[in-house]
Amino acid sequence: MKNVPEPYRIKMVEPIRLINREEREQKLVEADYNVFALRAEDVFIDLLTDSGTGAMSDAQWGAMMMGDESYAGSRSYYRLIDVCQKIFGHQYISPAHQGRGAENVLFPLLIKEGQVVVGNMHFDTTKAHIELKGGHAVNCIVEKAYDTSDGSPFKGDMDLEQLERLVKQHGPGQIAFILITVTCNSAGGQPVSMANIRAVKAVADRFGIRLFLDAARFAENAYFIKQREAGYADKNISDIVHEMFSYADGFTMSAKKDGLVNIGGLIGIREDETLANLVRANLVPTEGFPTYGGLAGRDLEALARGLVEVLDEHYLAARIGQVAYLGNLLLAAGIPIQQPVGGHAVFVDAGTFLPHLPSEQFPAQALTIELYREAGVRGVEIGSFLLGRDPVTGEQLVSPLEFLRLTIPRRTYTDNHMRYVAESLINIFQQRDRVRGVRIVEEPPVLRHFTAKLELIS
Ligand SMILES: *Cc1c(COP(=O)(O)O)cnc(C)c1O
Repeated sequence: MKNVPEPYRIKMVEPIRLINREEREQKLVEADYNVFALRAEDVFIDLLTDSGTGAMSDAQWGAMMMGDESYAGSRSYYRLIDVCQKIFGHQYISPAHQGRGAENVLFPLLIKEGQVVVGNMHFDTTKAHIELKGGHAVNCIVEKAYDTSDGSPFKGDMDLEQLERLVKQHGPGQIAFILITVTCNSAGGQPVSMANIRAVKAVADRFGIRLFLDAARFAENAYFIKQREAGYADKNISDIVHEMFSYADGFTMSAKKDGLVNIGGLIGIREDETLANLVRANLVPTEGFPTYGGLAGRDLEALARGLVEVLDEHYLAARIGQVAYLGNLLLAAGIPIQQPVGGHAVFVDAGTFLPHLPSEQFPAQALTIELYREAGVRGVEIGSFLLGRDPVTGEQLVSPLEFLRLTIPRRTYTDNHMRYVAESLINIFQQRDRVRGVRIVEEPPVLRHFTAKLELIS
């Protein structure tokens, strides 16, 4: 399945506009060189995130008109539950308004003060919710995940030896649960193999620990398994998804990714009825009554269809293929990127791209700014600017990697847009010694990257 065109055509368009270079300069000044402060309408191609930014199908838009907005027991809820039970094989399903809502409901039921949650690499809101419940989020991913030039097929796998060591070190009773993120977002959208999920499940069973999935990109992970793992080439995506979830006691999901919707989330519990009842009880004061979970009936309808559409192998081939296409254009021009390219984004190694900028001048932020100035394209920094300061000493931490992340929304941009992004970056690459570093002039105490103000270093 090489070069498969998108299995859809376009029936509605949304204009985007490239403002001129002087205007872009002005917008950068007004935004204090923080791209989070730009107005989206001043962005030509927006690669900030793949979360909630995808395009829905005609079937999803049509279904929204059929939303049953009853407060309790709506038809749309039952339709969603039915679809989820079939796809995931978990008996108890609850909607939530998005992934972090699901985490907020489930995690207090699983974590006791001081317990550890071991994961491959925790997503940032996930880590925050574990810590809010008094737990410690510990990463336990294979070493090669940190090597951007290592071409291994499953760089999201958990390190099994380290997992056992952690369990023995803390004692199984101190491990609240194990959480596998598929694909591993924080490691660059790298997939987790079925063999690894199965092996983690065996460790979990041996020590009587529960295993959950953080399943935002479950279908993209299944596609990688089909492409890369022995024994799966002839299986269909649904069967692979079913097997992945069969090893888990439950899951949380941000449906804003592979749910192919703009808002939504899910909690699944495979068979533990007591836990499922506690989830429903916890939903009421937080997300809403258990049959709507913070979503409108029409949102439940759109999600019920999105979850089916995302399993289409032709869709996944075009989706993963488009991300790889952008990565390959950059590689061919000698631009350093994380390899292999993950499922939802291309990570440009800005530290290597801009060798004249030390980490305290935030090379990836400098490149993010330059890409907007050059082309009106918005990416996002994943490096020392995002990492922030040591909470105790206040010292700036040094990220081992300085990335510009180009995150591709689903079914939204064409390969032509990708070519424009690549050409713009190649242009910058050819005169990269001119790119100036940045310093922070004002920052809030936590999560500073969203609102900090910056200036160029002359
Ligand atoms: C996006 C995401 C979340 C959080 O979901 P939201 O819908 O943004 O609240 C959690 N885990 C992973 C892996 C994610 O990608």
